[in-house]
Order: sequence, then C-alpha cells, then structure tokens
Amino acid sequence: MTMTDKQTESFDPVEMSSQQFELAACYISELRSGLINFLKQPKRITILNFPVEMDNGSVQSFQGYRVLHNTVFGPGKGGIRFHPELTMEEVVSLAKLMTWKCALVNIPFGGAKGGVICDTKLLSESEQRRITRRFTSELADNIGPNIDIPAPDMYTNEQTMAWIFDTYDVLHPGKNNRPVVTGKPVEMGGSFGRQEATGNGVYHLTERFLAKALIPSQQTVSGARVAIQGFGNVGAVTASAFFRQGAVIIAVSDSQGGIYRQAGFDPAEIVSFKAEHGTVVGMPDTMTITNEDLLQLECDILIPAASSNQIHQNNAYKINAKVVVEAANSPVTPAADSILCERGIYVLPDIIVNAGGVTVSYFEWVQNHSNQQWDLSKVNKQLQKTMHNVMDLVFSRWQSFVIGESTVAENIEITNAEVQKPGFRSIALSIAIERVAKATLIRGIWP
Ligand code: NAD
Repeated sequence: MTMTDKQTESFDPVEMSSQQFELAACYISELRSGLINFLKQPKRITILNFPVEMDNGSVQSFQGYRVLHNTVFGPGKGGIRFHPELTMEEVVSLAKLMTWKCALVNIPFGGAKGGVICDTKLLSESEQRRITRRFTSELADNIGPNIDIPAPDMYTNEQTMAWIFDTYDVLHPGKNNRPVVTGKPVEMGGSFGRQEATGNGVYHLTERFLAKALIPSQQTVSGARVAIQGFGNVGAVTASAFFRQGAVIIAVSDSQGGIYRQAGFDPAEIVSFKAEHGTVVGMPDTMTITNEDLLQLECDILIPAASSNQIHQNNAYKINAKVVVEAANSPVTPAADSILCERGIYVLPDIIVNAGGVTVSYFEWVQNHSNQQWDLSKVNKQLQKTMHNVMDLVFSRWQSFVIGESTVAENIEITNAEVQKPGFRSIALSIAIERVAKATLIRGIWP
C-alpha cells in the first residue's frame, strides 16, 4: 500500500474485529474451527427502545444496547457509553474486546458492553438521570451482580453508576446489590483508585514496555515527549501520571480541538482551564491545533484516549511517534496497524493498555461482595503488578515469534508487515483467545 492509495477503508467494527481475530489466530497452534465461530459471536444482544420525559414536558424515544459476548470465565463485564453515534455493531465489537481484556489480566469475567444513543451535551443532568434509570429498569435481569456488571465509559461517570445501582437496588430489595455495577462513587461502595485506574494503568503498562529497551533512546518515561488525544477521564489521568514521572506533555485535545506547547504543560493547569471553559481550546500561552494535527506531531509517545478509528489508512503514514499507546478502545484500524508496523512504529493495543479500568473494577466487585474497603495503596500496588505482568506476558510471547522460537500456524496467509514483525495486538489477542478456547473445552460443551 502506498500513500497515494485512496481506496476507502471500511470502519465496520464487526469486520475490523474479525480481521484482527483472523490475524491473531495465526499465532495459535491449534484452534478448532467450530470454536472459532463460537468465540467470534456474541452470546446475547439486547436492544431496547424506551421513552423518557424531557425537562420541557415532551417525550423522547431512546435506543439502548447491552451485548454479552462471552461468559466462559464468569459474568459479563463492560462499560456503558452514552454517545450520539453509537451503533449496535460498535457495542458488539467493544464487548468482544472486554472478553479478551479480562482473559489477559486473568479476572473471572466475560465480555460485555452497552450504551444509549444520546448526546449528553444536549441533556440536563435530570434528563440523563431519567435516561439511565429507565434504561436500567428495561435491562431488568440482563444485568446483576453475578450476571453482567456495567461500568463507566465515554460520557458516563460515577454518578451514572450510582443511578444504575440505585435503580437496580430499588427493583431488587433485600440483597447486597453493590456488586451490580463498578466505578461507583467511593461514598456508595466504589473502590479507591477506580476513577484513576485506567489512566494509571496506561502509565504502568507503558513504563514496563519502555523498560524492554525496544526503543534504545527511550527506556523510561522521564523526558519522553507525549501527545494525548482526548482529555476526559482516561486522557487527563494518563497525562498526570506521565507528568509526575517526568514526561513532557506537549499536546492534548478534546472533541473541540487541541492545544500544543513546545515546553510542555502541567496537566493540573489544563484540568482547571477545562473545568471553567468546558474545553482545553483557548488556554493561554498555547497554540491551537486540530485533532488531526495532534496525531501527526513529532513525539516519542502518542496516546489516543478518545474514540475509535482515529488512526486509519489515510493518516497512518503521517504518524511521527515511536510508539502508539491505545488508551481508547479501537483507535487504530487494522489497515493503520499494518502501516505502522511496516514503518517500525510499535502499537501497544487497547486490550492490554486500558485493562487497568476493568482490573480495578474487579477489585471493587471483590470488595463489594465481601463488604470490605481496601486502602488506596493496596489497590494501586495490585494494579501496577497486573499491568506489569500482562506486559511481560505479551512481550515474552512476542519475542518468541521474533526470534523464531515459535512459528505461525501452517497454511495461513498473513500480511507482509506481520510476517516481518508480529504486532503486539495479534500476540495479545492470541493469548486471550487461546485462554478462552481452552477454558471452553475444559468446561466441556454442554450437554
Ligand atoms: P470521557 O467521556 O471521560 O472522555 C472522552 C474525551 O474524548 C473527552 O475529552 C472528549 O471531548 C474527547 N473526544 C471525544 N471525541 C473526540 C474526538 N473525535 N477527537 C478528540 N477528542 C474527542 O471518556 P473516557 O472514559 O476518558 O474514555 C475514553 C476512551 O477510553 C474511550 O475509548 C473508552 O472506551 C476508553 N476506556 C475508558 C475506560 C474508563 O475506565 N473510563 C476504560 C477502558 C477504556
């Protein structure tokens, strides 16, 4: 593929996750074909249409989804997203990612995801509360402490989780319902460190990757020039974690645009500006840039922490980072993955990079079931250990293919770029798929 290729890339999430699955399957020595089809399909898709009374007295209809992909390791686990462009296909592919993520960090959950098509920027807080409550009540027993456990995602937060808990609790009185949802406020059964877990996890995974010395000039986070797309929960916490360890945050952005400062920012300054103005754009002593400019900046570490398909076939040639760290879910398309691989730019995939969120969600769930509250240092220590372990696991399998100890499955065509150097995504995915496949067979296919 060359820079002049103009064919349009499909952003169909189901097709893209299927391509990633096929590629990963090359790194698995044995996988039964019937099992492949089972692992690719969601177990259950729930589509809900429901009415909500708006502040002005009108009634608006909303559509919401909850997809349960796989429950071989345990109940479903995955965020709830509020977004005007949400599709059922996207929710399906995000639910699959959750299955692989949970398997990689060895937590007893399957994959799930959900969301409602709505634009929170156009909704009052009470409208958001009514949408959340009605959606939760319509989900009925499709969620539950041992069935499927939601968490926050884009444009939902700990307040949304508190409303979900409260609604579920009202409908299921007399039980310990706290574990029905994670990412709750600490005052209401949330875990210390959950809100920062995804961003802190992004940092721990990156520090471990850099220590592997694949980038000889950048073996620690200190001094690294970092650009971050998206300054929401994940982006802002990631920026602070990197800044604390001596990284130079040269650019950040949100949906309205980005800001750049050659000498770097203190993320705390951006947090207060955004709290006051609703956007990072316009902060004094910064250069305003577009989100596209941000992605193409010359930097050591590029962290997409916003939405999917941001790095694609038509801009992957312009990425100027040494490593792309996928804090968001699916920000790099399969075509871009292959281009970045050809160009020698490492991509650390979402299924390991942002797994800190579900890891601490699991800690919260454990605390809720046992009516305990762990202190912050215990949560953070366990999080760091998990992120380091998963990086080590993926790195050692990746290395075994690079040095030729392991070889790809026979009779399988894979892209030129991957033949030369396997990507961390395919390797991570192959470990996850193998674990879920093995557990499925150990359990035995019922009946
Ligand atoms: P958030 O709603 O708190 O923040 C999203 C940020 O992205 C906002 O700053 C928004 O302005 C910005 N944004 C949205 N569209 C954009 C665009 N097109 N270009 C640039 N910026 C844009 O969401 P979050 O919880 O920080 O989630 C961010 C990403 O991380 C999502 O992909 C989510 O699925 C993933 N993720 C989140 C968690 C978590 O614990 N919150 C866990 C795992 C993965």
